[in-house]
Amino acid sequence: MAKSVAGPEIEKLIQLLAKLPGLGPRSARRAALHLVKRREQLLAPLTAAMAEARDKIGVCSTCGNIDSRDPCTICTDHGRDQSTVVVVEDVADLWALERAKALNAAYHVLGGVLSPLEGVGPEDLTIRQLIDRVEAGGVKELVIAVNATVEGQTTAHYIMDRLEGLEVKVTRLAHGVPVGGELDYLDEGTLAAAMRSRTAL
Ligand code: ZN
Repeated sequence: MAKSVAGPEIEKLIQLLAKLPGLGPRSARRAALHLVKRREQLLAPLTAAMAEARDKIGVCSTCGNIDSRDPCTICTDHGRDQSTVVVVEDVADLWALERAKALNAAYHVLGGVLSPLEGVGPEDLTIRQLIDRVEAGGVKELVIAVNATVEGQTTAHYIMDRLEGLEVKVTRLAHGVPVGGELDYLDEGTLAAAMRSRTAL
């Protein structure tokens, strides 16, 4: 155990910062020092922003997005095609698709994928809420945009099964060969998915 160079307050700050994704103990130390040195410009506004986030930001009860309003900004945006719902694993995926301007649609965040190994079952995800949304009407198309992993694909199939008999078109991302991609350089998973989702020429 390294000898402490500062009081418990700064150690606590460092320990908390080190829990953030992408920050190890070393960068947490640097971040803490940076914050303390810039008390007025950074530490004070950051503290206020965090308190505001704690008090105001929550999960949208319709789609599972994170926002300060419920229903969220996306669910209440009439400029979007609310009849098309993109199903994603995580809020981070929603944000990535939004950054990519992939589709001007609504979303449904599952909160993960089915994983018997890790003990994640259907009741741990928002699949029931998704079926309820479809049953309530108004959803014409579901775009299953889960990751191209075994768990992701298992989850997609499970959702398909649960949707049986419901009037909704279901599509999925094409896990295809990237434009200009040479087959030799692709990983097996991508190649196999590209082969499975082959279309008529
Ligand atoms: Zn929402």
